[in-house]
Amino acid sequence: MERTFSIIKPDATKRNLTGKVNAMIEGAGLRIVAQRRIQMTEAQAKRFYEVHAERPFYGELVEFMTSAPVVVQVLEADNAVAKYREVMGATNPEEADAGTIRKEVALSIGENSVHGSDSQENAAIEIAQFFSEAEIVG
Ligand code: ATP
Ligand code: MG
Repeated sequence: MERTFSIIKPDATKRNLTGKVNAMIEGAGLRIVAQRRIQMTEAQAKRFYEVHAERPFYGELVEFMTSAPVVVQVLEADNAVAKYREVMGATNPEEADAGTIRKEVALSIGENSVHGSDSQENAAIEIAQFFSEAEIVG
């Protein structure tokens, strides 16, 4: 069993779409084994997206991620990382396949409703930023 880290982003929580996104996650066979709704601090958002610090959209991204509550989650399945990337769809919702979360729900490349880890290594790092092992219950 593999784990991945997910965030339901502010554009989705603001529009009351947490349940809809979770239904799509569970419908795809991913199990939500930890979940918490939080207001991300600027420091948390900056640390989380540190890899993008040099990108022109970094400031905008940090501002967006702290603009309203997010839901942080740990998802479990066989091949959870790749499976969730598939369920999310492309970063830009205009390029996302039909039936994916971003195609169905996202507003734009910035306000794209969900985050999912891009590797098992990053999944472990991201999970540890927000959850202790005791909070993850499969
Ligand atoms: P995420 O890491 O959030 O799961 P991703 O892996 O599909 O998304 P990344 O390339 O890691 O995409 O970019 C991280 C986030 O930065 C994107 O989800 C999006 O919110 C934002 N982003 C990426 N490219 C742009 C852009 N050109 N303009 C504005 N925001 C962007
Ligand atoms: Mg990414």
